[in-house]
Amino acid sequence: MNLLIKNGRVIDPQSGIDDTLDILIENGIIKAVDKKLAVDGAEVFDATGLVAAPGFIDMHVHLREPGYERKETIATGLAAALAGGFTGVCCMPNTDPVNDSGSVTHFILDRARAAGPVAVYPIGAVSKGSGGEELAPYAEMKEAGIVAVSDDGVPVGDSGFMRRALEYAGSMGLPVIDHAEDASLSGKGLVNEGPVSVRMGVQGIPAEAEAIQVYRDALLAGLTGCRLHVAHVSTRKAVEAVRWAKAKGFSVTAEVTPHHFSLTDEAVLNYDTNAKMNPPLRSRDDVDAVIEGLADGTIDAIATDHAPHTYEEKMQEFDRAPNGVIGLQTAVSLALDRLVRSKRVSLKRVVDALSAAPSRILGLRGKGRIEVGACGDFTLLSLRKRSVLVEKEIKSIGKNSPFIGMKLWGKVAGVIIAGEFYRS
Ligand SMILES: [Zn+2]
Repeated sequence: MNLLIKNGRVIDPQSGIDDTLDILIENGIIKAVDKKLAVDGAEVFDATGLVAAPGFIDMHVHLREPGYERKETIATGLAAALAGGFTGVCCMPNTDPVNDSGSVTHFILDRARAAGPVAVYPIGAVSKGSGGEELAPYAEMKEAGIVAVSDDGVPVGDSGFMRRALEYAGSMGLPVIDHAEDASLSGKGLVNEGPVSVRMGVQGIPAEAEAIQVYRDALLAGLTGCRLHVAHVSTRKAVEAVRWAKAKGFSVTAEVTPHHFSLTDEAVLNYDTNAKMNPPLRSRDDVDAVIEGLADGTIDAIATDHAPHTYEEKMQEFDRAPNGVIGLQTAVSLALDRLVRSKRVSLKRVVDALSAAPSRILGLRGKGRIEVGACGDFTLLSLRKRSVLVEKEIKSIGKNSPFIGMKLWGKVAGVIIAGEFYRS
C-alpha cells in the first residue's frame, strides 16, 4: 500500500528543508522525497496549500489509565491526540498504580496498541510509587518500553537521590525528566507569587521554587554526565538556568507548555479553576522569556502537560480543585497563533519543537524527520484556516480547558501515520 503526498510545503527542521515537494510512502516508510514524483498505483493525497511537517510528538501527557479512568482513558486520550495533530505521545507515570514496573508499562502499551494508530512512549517513574525513597527498576521498565523516567507531579526533593537516579538512568541511556519545584518554597501556594496572588489573597509560588531546582539538577547533570530534561519551564529565571547549563556544556534540555506561552497569571484572577495548574501561570515577563527561550533554542520542545480532570473535580473551590489543563487539541493552534503569527518564533523552530526535538531528546528512531527511510508520519497544517475548540468536539473525558471558544489562527488539517491519512 503506497501513498503519494503531492505539492505540500514540506518542512523538515532536521535537514533544513522548506520547499514544495512530493513524498512517497511505501509500507509505512518514506521511500522518496522529491520534486514532481509520479508513481503508478499509489494513492494520491493532494496537499496543495498545506504544510507537511514530521509527525508531532507530545512528550508530556497524562493519560490517567490505569486508575483514573474517570478523568481519561488511554483510548480517549489517544483520540484527543489524533484530533490535535499528534502521531505520538509520551505518558507520565503518575497513574494508579504508578508506572514503576515492567508490568504497568506492558499494560499501557497493550491498551495503546488496541486503541488506535497514535504511538505511545511510556515514561517510567524515577522512584517506586514516585515516593522519592527507592529507585524504580529502570532496566526492567526499559526492557518493557519506557523512553525516560520522571516522578512528574511531585519533585525529587533529595539531591543525593536525584544524583543516583541520573546515574542509573544514564547507565540505561534514559533521560531523567525533572518536575522542577522546591517544595519547601512552593509550600501550599496556589498561584504565581506576585501582584495576582496578593489581589486574590492566596498564597503564591515564587519563581525561585522552579529555578533553584533547575540549577541544582543541572549541576547534578554536570556532575554525573547524564541527561536531564526539564519539564514545563514557566519562569524567566528557569529559562536563564537552562541557558546557563547549556553554556556550561551540561546535557540539559527543556520544554514549555502552550498554556505557559499563551496565558499570564491574570487568567486566574476570577478564580477560574481551569487556569489553575502547577507550575502556575506566570507574569507577562515570564511569558516573554519562555517565548524568547523557545525562539533561540534554549527551550527545545513544546509539550502539553495534558492533564484531564472531571467536571466535578474542577468545580470545587479554588484551593481544593486539582491542578491541570487539557491541551492536546489546542496545542498546535496555540503555537501557530501565539508564536508564528506574531513572528516571535519561526515556523521551522515551532515544527522542530513539536517533532524533531522530542525525537532527539528521547532517542526515537525514524521519528521527527522527513527523509528516505524514516517513518511515514506527518502532521498536516493549514495556515489559512482558523480553529475554535468547541466543547462537544473535545475527545478527552475531562473538558478542563481555558481555551474553549477561543478563535486561533492556524489549524491541523490531519495526520498521516505510517502512510495512513486521518482527518482532524
Ligand atoms: Zn509536572
